Amino acid sequence: MSSDTQPVSIREARNSILAEIGEGVTLVAASKRQPDARIEAALAAGQRVFGENRVQEAQQRWTDRSGQYADLQLRLIGPLQTNKAEDAVQLFQAIETLDREKLLHALIKAVEKTGAPPPDLYIQVNTGDEPQKGGVSITDLADLIAATQDTYPGRLVGLMCIPPADEPAAPHFALLKQLADAHALAQVSMGMSGDYALAARLGATHVRVGTALFGARET
Ligand SMILES: *Cc1c(COP(=O)(O)O)cnc(C)c1O
Repeated sequence: MSSDTQPVSIREARNSILAEIGEGVTLVAASKRQPDARIEAALAAGQRVFGENRVQEAQQRWTDRSGQYADLQLRLIGPLQTNKAEDAVQLFQAIETLDREKLLHALIKAVEKTGAPPPDLYIQVNTGDEPQKGGVSITDLADLIAATQDTYPGRLVGLMCIPPADEPAAPHFALLKQLADAHALAQVSMGMSGDYALAARLGATHVRVGTALFGARET
């Protein structure tokens, strides 16, 4: 794709994704490893909600840009190390990957120390019980929800999952929605480029879409 056709195609891709997911669902543009020109094209098309995987990449991308867009919303969708918590609470309006009490405590301390408005939190659930994957186990979810609601100065708003790559996603989406309902959490972040329409049908409030919106990532 040449750079002068890119903005048009990102606009078109965005429009078709928005049409598929319907009005009640928020498109989170997963911008990891995408070149600046594509981020600019998405902004020009009206996209304001972006999901970032790494704190440092997000700082580089948004520190100068964020002042230009009052309605910009940045969300952390990748794993967070406790030593990056202070940077994270100052940059993101939502953190989708809370998965352990140690990180909860680091976020609380980071909010206290920086005075940043506490980001909305989502708990990432390891619905496939995969050993290498982030996310709290279903067994430990209730305790982490309770700890968060008892101690975090901001809001716990929902749950997030990344289903196993080699399994049908639908059962994982249905399970996450069921868990969110059971704990009276209103927001459900699930679905990526290959399955965002399915996720939307199964109750997602936020879909995180990268390549289907921007094109293939830089390696
Ligand atoms: C990269 C990523 C996405 C988007 O993936 P695509 O397949 O490019 O849509 C969504 N969620 C998370 C957590 C990601 O890391």
